[in-house]
Amino acid sequence: MLAVIIIIIIIWIVMWGFYKFMYPRAPKSMMPKKGDVITPRQCDFCGNSLAEYRGVLETNPSLATEAESESNSNINANKELFFCNYEHQADFHAGETYKPDL
Ligand SMILES: [Zn+2]
Repeated sequence: MLAVIIIIIIIWIVMWGFYKFMYPRAPKSMMPKKGDVITPRQCDFCGNSLAEYRGVLETNPSLATEAESESNSNINANKELFFCNYEHQADFHAGETYKPDL
């Protein structure tokens, strides 16, 4: 019976070590800093869900050029826009539709 308990503990330690090796801690720069907004938001371009501080938040789309506000007439001028990255932000304003890289 003691052998079974020892084996279970050994397996647990081995699994713990394996887990630590397979999933190292994310670098500090990836972690939310104090003051970061961690609310999940949806990208306005691809629909991907991401914590707010990891993405790009565009607070004032009314500053965008007139051509853009015309082509995106369905978007409220006061609405905040959120994107995964600057690439998605640029593509969104270029009037492109999301095409996943397959
Ligand atoms: Zn996106």
